[in-house]
Amino acid sequence: MKTSRRAFLSASAALPLAAAQSATRRGVEFPTVSSFDPWVEVHAQHLRANVRSVAAATGRSIIAVIKNNAYGAGLVNVARILDPLEHIRGFAVVKLHEAHALRDGGVKKPILLMGPVDASQIVDLVRRDITLMVYTPMAREFERAERRTGSTASVHVCIDTGLGRVGVPYRDAPQFIADLRGARSVSIGGLMMTFTEDPDFDREQLRRFTDVCRTAQFDLSRCHAVSSYTLFQHPDIALGALRPGMVLYGIYPEPAFRQARKFDLKPAIALKCRVAYVKQLQAGDSAGYNRAYIAKAPVWIATLPVGHADGLPRVAAKGARVRIGGALYPIVASVSASHAIVEIGAERRVEIGDEATLFDWTDGSRPEDLAEACGASVYDLTMHLNPLLPRRVIGE
Ligand SMILES: *Cc1c(COP(=O)(O)O)cnc(C)c1O
Repeated sequence: MKTSRRAFLSASAALPLAAAQSATRRGVEFPTVSSFDPWVEVHAQHLRANVRSVAAATGRSIIAVIKNNAYGAGLVNVARILDPLEHIRGFAVVKLHEAHALRDGGVKKPILLMGPVDASQIVDLVRRDITLMVYTPMAREFERAERRTGSTASVHVCIDTGLGRVGVPYRDAPQFIADLRGARSVSIGGLMMTFTEDPDFDREQLRRFTDVCRTAQFDLSRCHAVSSYTLFQHPDIALGALRPGMVLYGIYPEPAFRQARKFDLKPAIALKCRVAYVKQLQAGDSAGYNRAYIAKAPVWIATLPVGHADGLPRVAAKGARVRIGGALYPIVASVSASHAIVEIGAERRVEIGDEATLFDWTDGSRPEDLAEACGASVYDLTMHLNPLLPRRVIGE
C-alpha cells in the first residue's frame, strides 16, 4: 500500500486509557455521544448461553478469559454478567490494571492475573485477593506480603511445555514446585500451561504437562490449559477447568470450526452505527482518499461514521459487507480513521439515520464473516475495537 501524507493525516492519535476505563467501568454512555457514533452492543443472554453450552457439553467449570477489555466487549460489564453463573469458577486477565478494575467493579469470584508482576505490586495484589500466575522464584516477596497483609498469596504455576513465551521450563518445573511448596506465605492453587495450537504437537505438550503434575503429585482437577481452539481440536483433552476466551463471546476461533456448529455459539458482541450521509454519484465521480472508488454508472452511496480508529480494519474496503435495513451492502473506496463508504446501488434504499451493522449475531453479519472478508483473524477484529466506544448491554 502506498503511504501518503494523506494516509498519515487520516490516522488518529492514541486515546487516553483512563477515559476508556471509566467509560466501560461505569457501563454508561457519555452524555455527549452522538447517536450516529459507533457503539458496541453486548448481548448478556448470549454470553450466559455460551457459558452454559460449553459447560454442559464438557461437564467442566470455566475460568473465563476476559483479558484485553473482555475481547472488546467491555471488561467489567462482562465480568458482572458472568460472575453469578455457577459454571464460572473465576476470571483470568493479563494486564495488572484489569485485575484491579475487576475488584473495583465488585467482582467476587477468583481473579487470575496471567501477566508479569513487579515485586512492588505484590502486597496490593495479595491484599485484594488476586491470584498470581508465577514462573520465577518470589518466595521472599510473598513472605513480605504476608507480614504486611496477614494473608498468604494464592498462585498458579505456569509451565512452559513448548510455547516458549512465559512459564517454568517443564524440565525444571517439579523442582520449582517443590521449592515453592517449601516456602511459607504462598499456596499453590493450580498448575497451568498454554498449547501451541499445533495439532501434532499439542499431545506432546499435554504429556509433558501431565508428567509434571504427576511428579509433583498435583491433582489434575486443579490444572488448566484448554483454550477455545483446544475445545474444538482436541475435545477429549480433559483437565480440571477450561480456560477459554473467544467461545464465551460466541465466536468460533477458526473458520474451520464453524461448519460443525459445535456448542451452537451465539455472538455476544456487535458493532453498529447510524448512516451519516446518503448521496448519488454520477459516472466518473470519485469517493475515498486517493480516489479509491470511481463510479462506473450513477450509484447511491452511504457514508458511515466508523473507521479504523474505532476498530474497523482498513481492508474492510475490499468488499466486507454491512447490514442496513435487512440487506447487505459492500464497503468500498477506503476506510479512513472515522469513515467508511458503502455502495448501495442504483436505487436509494437507505436514509440518513438508518442503523448500520458492521457485525452482530445474524448469519452473514457475524464477526467471523467480517474477519474472513478482511482476511484477518477474528481475534484481531474484536480485540481491536476502540475501548472508548460506548458499550451498551442488551438482553439483561
Ligand atoms: C487468551 C488466552 C486464553 C484464551 O484463549 P482463547 O483462544 O480466546 O480461548 C487462554 N489462556 C491464555 C494464557 C491466554 O492468553
